[in-house]
Parts: sequence; structure tokens; C-alpha cells
Amino acid sequence: MTKNIAVIRGDGIGPEIVAEALKVLDKVGELFGHTFCYTDVDMGGCAIDKYGDPLPESELQKCLSSDSVLLGAVGGEKWNNVPGDKRPEKGLLRLRAGMGVYSNNRPAKIWKQLSDASPLKKEIVEKGIDFIIVRELIGGIYFGEHKTEGDTATDVLSYSESEIERIGRIGFETARKRNKKLCSVEKSNVLDSSRLWKKVMHRLAEEYTDVDLSDMLVDNCAMQLVKNPAQFDVIVTENMFGDILSDEASMITGSIGMIPSSSLGATSCGLYEPIHGSAPDIAGKNIANPIGTILSAAMMLRYSFDMGEEADAIENAVSAFLDAGLRTADIISEGMTQVGCSECGEFIVKNLKRE
Ligand code: NAD
Repeated sequence: MTKNIAVIRGDGIGPEIVAEALKVLDKVGELFGHTFCYTDVDMGGCAIDKYGDPLPESELQKCLSSDSVLLGAVGGEKWNNVPGDKRPEKGLLRLRAGMGVYSNNRPAKIWKQLSDASPLKKEIVEKGIDFIIVRELIGGIYFGEHKTEGDTATDVLSYSESEIERIGRIGFETARKRNKKLCSVEKSNVLDSSRLWKKVMHRLAEEYTDVDLSDMLVDNCAMQLVKNPAQFDVIVTENMFGDILSDEASMITGSIGMIPSSSLGATSCGLYEPIHGSAPDIAGKNIANPIGTILSAAMMLRYSFDMGEEADAIENAVSAFLDAGLRTADIISEGMTQVGCSECGEFIVKNLKRE
């Protein structure tokens, strides 16, 4: 299979971590008989320096005509005083809007080798934590009317059936590619928008009979995430609940450098990026952890290209890296051997196997 990937290296550690992910993709291509073609796209601070714009239309078009987009990270102190609409982050917002990605998917997984990094008790972590939060990204209270009149401020939370249905489908489809368990999180004991949410989810469940749907109130979910996270496979929820729960979920896994994400819309063309920023404090030192980006590339294979076996191969090679007692600086602990960003990538490439 041939796939065209738009590659945004970005700023700070972006170019270093993306370089490792591309090495991994190239090796996957070799092993499984695929060709990945890369088109470099300038976005963020580097695009401001080059064009005076964080994402010129021509660069956006390269993303829109690709099969998917892999992003490192953008931003840095150098561009902190640039006017608001020209800041590096504006490029990212324009990209998300341009691609129409309404679903943000963030896995929370504890690698058994890193269980000490979790702030949760050992007996909870040992049960295994491996789930995904699917968050609605462009609706709900963040996008409703905001106004302040006198001593009263109002923010409007509204969802239409079609907005709920399209994110619901991503939840069901994601669960289908995993363990077929979907938990829909809302506040239907209080909110009309949540009652509609629940109704639409149950209507969809009639179509996805192979997926086991459950409902949970958001306050209970916040508790269950720390009490018994092993119960979850895929969680689907609206924008604000997802914002809060996905941050809670990433904390329980320990390291920001390890977590990938995907953003998807109506087509299979997705945006894949690690959840961290451009880490200017460690840029150019070959000490960044590239695993969040490498796992983002694995998500691209699984969710946009339907290459589950290839994605498994990457995840297994990451596991082999950790099994070998190798660690990048951000996850180092006693008795482990510290390696740099490029050594980490190279080890993963060498350990990729077609089962
Ligand atoms: P950050 O995520 O870049 O860094 C926070 C801390 O985590 C730093 O100490 C950093 O060294 C460390 N860290 C992050 N990624 C790491 C990795 N892969 N390996 C090892 N350590 C890692 O957050 P910040 O410092 O608040 O932001 C820095 C810049 O990144 C800002 O300009 C911000 O606007 C931008 N940013 C961009 C994105 C994005 O591109 N999606 C997201 C968040 C922040």
C-alpha cells in the first residue's frame, strides 16, 4: 500500500522526535511491503520565520491533500511576543479547523515496565491500565455563546443530534478496533444536553451490536479513573468533560513524553501528534523522548490506514525497548540505562518484527 503523509516537524524538539518516528515508519514499510511518502510542511515558529505566517494556505493545502498528518510540536519563547493571530499555536488551530477534526483521541496506557512512574497505588496499576478517551473537540460549552452582563456571566452548552452522532460513531469504531467496550460519559441526571447524548448513543448501539455500551455519570467517571481504571477500554464524551478527564487520565500514566494522540473527522485523514509541547528547555540536546511521536505514528497506521498488525509491531518494539532496561532522561530510574533520542529510535527500529 502507498500512503502520503504530511510531516510537520515544527519547533523545539519537534524535528528530533519526528525524525525517529519516520525511521520507524520506513522500517515498517520495508517489513510489511508499504511505501510511505513524506511531504514536509512548515507550521509554527519555523513558518513564522520563513513566511511571517504560522500556517500559510499553501502549507495547509499540503496537509489537506495527504492521507494523514504527523506533527511533532510547535511554539517557543522566540515567538512569545508575536501578535495573537500570528502565534505558532494559531497554526495548529487553523490546521485542526481546516482538517475538520472533531474527535480527539488520547490513549492512557501504563507500560508495566514504568508502573513506578504512576502516582496510583501499585495494586491498582497492576490490574493493567490501557484505555482511550474519545473527546468531542469542536462543540459544547467551549463553542457556545459566552457573555457577561452586569454581575452575571453565561456560557451556553448545546449539542445537536448530528454532532453527538458523529463523535459517537468514532467512539464505537474505536471500540471495534480494540476490546469492544464503550463507556459513554455524561451528566444525564442534570443536563438536557446529556440526556440527548445518552439517547443518541443508545440509538447508535443498535447498529454496533458487537460493541458493549455502558453509561457513566461524569463525576463517577472522575472517581473510577483513579479507583479502577482497568475497567475501561474506550470512553466517549463531550468536549469539556473530555478535556478534564483526559488530563486526569494522562497523569495516571506517569510520563508526558510517552503519550500519543489522534484527531479525526469525517474522513480517514487524521492528525497525529504527541500530547506534549516543543520542550524548548531540552531542544537540540538529543535527550527528548521520541516514544509519544512514534506511538502517534502507530495510531496513524491503526486508525487511518487500517494497519493494525503494523501498529502492533511498533508497540511491541517500544515494549522491547523498555524491557531492555533502556530509558530516555524523562523516564530514567535506578538501575536503568539512559539513552538519547536517536538511540531510542534506532533500538525501536531494530526491534520491529513481523510476527
Ligand atoms: P512542554 O510539553 O513542551 O514541556 C513541559 C515539560 O515536559 C518540559 O520540562 C519538557 O522538557 C518536558 N517534555 C515535554 N516533552 C518531552 C519529551 N518528549 N521528552 C522529554 N521531556 C519532555 O510544555 P511547555 O514547556 O509548557 O511548552 C513549551 C512550548 O510548547 C510552548 O511554546 C507551548 O506553547 C508549546 N506547546 C505546543 C503544543 C503542540 O504543539 N501541540 C502543545 C503544548 C505546548
